[in-house]
Amino acid sequence: MTLTALPGQPQLAYRGDTLFLEEVRLSDLAARYGTPLFAYSKASMLSALAAYQRGFAGRDAQICYAMKANSSLGVLQVFARAGCGFDIVSAGELKRVIAAGGDPRKVIFSGVGKTRAEMRTALEAGIGCFNVESTAELEVLHEVATELGTQAPVSIRVNPNVDPQTHPYISTGLKGNKFGVAHEETVATYQRAASLSGLRVVGIDCHIGSQITQESPYLDAMDRILDLVAAIEAAGVPRLQHIDFGGGLGIDYQGDTPPAADALWAQLLAKIDARGYGDRKLMIEPGRSLVGNAGVCLTEVLYLKPGEQKNFCIVDAAMNDLPRPAMYQAWQAIVPLERTPDAAERPAYDVVGPICESGDWIGRDRHLGPVQAGDRLAVLSAGAYCMSMSSNYNTRGRAAEVLVDGDQVHLIRERESAEDTFHKERLV
Ligand SMILES: *Cc1c(COP(=O)(O)O)cnc(C)c1O
Repeated sequence: MTLTALPGQPQLAYRGDTLFLEEVRLSDLAARYGTPLFAYSKASMLSALAAYQRGFAGRDAQICYAMKANSSLGVLQVFARAGCGFDIVSAGELKRVIAAGGDPRKVIFSGVGKTRAEMRTALEAGIGCFNVESTAELEVLHEVATELGTQAPVSIRVNPNVDPQTHPYISTGLKGNKFGVAHEETVATYQRAASLSGLRVVGIDCHIGSQITQESPYLDAMDRILDLVAAIEAAGVPRLQHIDFGGGLGIDYQGDTPPAADALWAQLLAKIDARGYGDRKLMIEPGRSLVGNAGVCLTEVLYLKPGEQKNFCIVDAAMNDLPRPAMYQAWQAIVPLERTPDAAERPAYDVVGPICESGDWIGRDRHLGPVQAGDRLAVLSAGAYCMSMSSNYNTRGRAAEVLVDGDQVHLIRERESAEDTFHKERLV
């Protein structure tokens, strides 16, 4: 039987004409759990993590999974057991970390709009670091920590003003983004932080964007961060114990060729060592690159609707399950679970969901072969920023999720019922 691996997704392959994730036939999963269904490969997640771990071998380093990419408890549990910390952006995410067995001391808290209540929750849980994004936030965090009779460990997220050359909605390290403290204001902001008794300055942080597929923005950002470390310490701020370099490494969606995590870090570490900062603890916050290509979304074809200008393939997954195409015109591969050998010329389809929005599309002008109603398709690279961004729009219950581990399948999220979507609502 011929084995055809799919690009970028080593655990996903056709055996003959049938698509498998690890040792599991995906059409069996769809039949057993229904569609739409997210399926994640544990081996894929761990091998993506291993690339970073190799990159940091022999170093004092902490990998904090940026859990907004996929915050399902079963996914967090895989990373917690592998020793990861977590990069969170809300107190809700902290509660998920704890529920999944993660260690709050390995949690770093990012985001421009932390509330006082969230700060209190995080301080009480004893998180590792707050990545502070403005002077105003510093002052509030100082007040909250002082009220609790404690000190908040802080690093300041600096905006290194490099262009990550990615989609504008996911570029965060340029002037004009809402994120981080401007490069020119960094030293003064650190001096202010060091003067506040409710704060303990522990590190520096940056995160320049997402789905970055080139090395140069990272190398440039590292130079700027190291320049800043020198300037901050020269200004009398106590030694920065750690350098947090954020996340953002891209994955292969459509022939993209991002650097491998270990190769990228070999270059970054060479730079850090050459400039004399090899003794600092390193932290990173990868999200997409740990989970994106570990997951697929299985969906069933409901109707074919041929037209004069367009042919539509209407499926049971929609923009509420897979928001990336509607949000960022993102491209994700769509393949059949069972291939049918076929030489005929077939029309291209726009693959769309049932939601009442023209923005509800999953793929445009796709060649799906001899597709028919009732066939099942897999939307690839669906491990990151899909389920975690999903909604109940059109009162669609969110999809079920399974974790595949060899030939074992674990249901990690039950499909939501309509009642689940409105059980907090009240009639007057
Ligand atoms: C989203 C985010 C990340 C992770 O980005 P990826 O592109 O998923 O790796 C890391 N750090 C911060 C602060 C983020 O907002």
